[in-house]
Amino acid sequence: MIKFLDLQKINACYAQELKQAADRVIDSGWYLMGKELASFESDYNEFCKTGHTIGVANGLDALRLILKGYIELGIMQKGDEVIVPANTYIASILAVTDNELTPVFVEPNINTFNLDASKIEAAITPKTKAVLTVHLYGQISIDQQMLDICDKYGLKLIEDGAQSHGAQWHGKVSGALGDAGGHSFYPGKNLGALGDAGAVTTNDEKLSLAIRALANYGSHKKYENIYQGLNSRLDEIQAAFLNVKLKYIQEDIAGRRKVANYYLEHITTPSIVLPEVIHEDGHVWHLFVIRTKNRDKLQKHLLDQGVQTLIHYPIPPHKQEAYKEYKDLHLPITEQIHKEVLSLPISAVMTDAEIEQVVKSLNCYND
Ligand SMILES: *Cc1c(COP(=O)(O)O)cnc(C)c1O
Repeated sequence: MIKFLDLQKINACYAQELKQAADRVIDSGWYLMGKELASFESDYNEFCKTGHTIGVANGLDALRLILKGYIELGIMQKGDEVIVPANTYIASILAVTDNELTPVFVEPNINTFNLDASKIEAAITPKTKAVLTVHLYGQISIDQQMLDICDKYGLKLIEDGAQSHGAQWHGKVSGALGDAGGHSFYPGKNLGALGDAGAVTTNDEKLSLAIRALANYGSHKKYENIYQGLNSRLDEIQAAFLNVKLKYIQEDIAGRRKVANYYLEHITTPSIVLPEVIHEDGHVWHLFVIRTKNRDKLQKHLLDQGVQTLIHYPIPPHKQEAYKEYKDLHLPITEQIHKEVLSLPISAVMTDAEIEQVVKSLNCYND
């Protein structure tokens, strides 16, 4: 069986260094807010070519804290609207509603799966304060049109970079393309910890200071609290693991691109629509997502051929029980995407034989 993602094999590549990192933290006697975090923040900041990086507990918190920071700075207030792609993982939306802001769902482009900038302007109202764009499946979702609209209407541009570590656009890196970026280091992400971790990146110093305090009970100085904050810290042990894995991220991206390019060139099944790539640098292939009308039939065919696949995602946020108030929205492109998508195995540890096997299994599918 070709696994969808073999995390054990991925982390085995770094096992010795990861164990040394764990030993270093255990022996140090210092488990939070120490040298490992400082070192990761500094190196990740350099990797993203941004001004400030704040390590936090997970990717959802990173996004929640960005919006909370803007609220504390008086740039947004409860009830304001944030434009979001209708087609995303629910965490992007949870960050908005958790801050009592209102998500305004805009349809994606069906071929790139990313927010369609040409549809943003029609969704803007006097309450709109930000666009939260998601670089879904690892591909940059920002274009000049989106930047121009944010500029014209004075909107903050927030990036959900949970799936796009290292993706680039005109030499700038995911997380440094807008006003602030949220990052996730969930184990299955391209840059994955061995537990939960996340980060915020921004060039806005005021926002960075607010977020640093908010993530630490609202405290900027020990026992002095300027905000009603939360506890959202990136543990030393996870930071130590991330310090190891960050060194190899470019190799990981190159490995994923190799698999993706092989799939793009060799999958020829007429009933399968391949993902559109805007620019090679702009995609880091967190997921390789195809579309097909009879998705469940294809998934079963692949399973019979020994290829495990997943669906990202089966139910769009506006159709989730948690968001009953949005269930009647008319979002046909998003709904079609959620019915038709299937994610193929992709990672830097797949063997050539496995990559070829996936393609053979697809090319013998009749529909
Ligand atoms: C994984 C993910 C998140 C949340 O990250 P966590 O670290 O799991 O909280 C947010 N947005 C997107 C698009 C994601 O894929």
